[in-house]
Amino acid sequence: MRLRGHHLFCTALFSGHGYSETFTEKMTHLTKQLRAGEKLTVIVGADEVCAACPNRTSEGGCALSSEDVEKRDRAALRVLRLAPAEELTWEEAKSRLSRLTEQEFQAVCGGCRWQEEGLCSLFLLRQAVSNEN
Ligand code: SF4
Repeated sequence: MRLRGHHLFCTALFSGHGYSETFTEKMTHLTKQLRAGEKLTVIVGADEVCAACPNRTSEGGCALSSEDVEKRDRAALRVLRLAPAEELTWEEAKSRLSRLTEQEFQAVCGGCRWQEEGLCSLFLLRQAVSNEN
């Protein structure tokens, strides 16, 4: 499964909220696949989650700002110490997510709508990954 960098954070913090019903169904399905052991390949750019998102543009970009979401992808790869196209398991991703500092978390998620709505924070991220173990 190809997953854009910042979607590792969204996947860990996903609690059933999304941009549309189709999007939420897709996220639910993908998170189950990952937790069942399917490997992921981390990328910068549109992925399988974007494919089910109403914000995806006909050119394959993101209506919320391709530049902004790609900046978040690159920040995610940097703070998780991953290279583009690197393959990992969800267990490995959780281990990396659990070690983040507040500054590293904000470099990826700062200013995002879902954080502003109170659905995402470093505290919730740590709780989510430790509750899965
Ligand atoms: S299209 Fe944009 S808003 Fe939708 S999942 Fe992709 S990055 Fe997120």
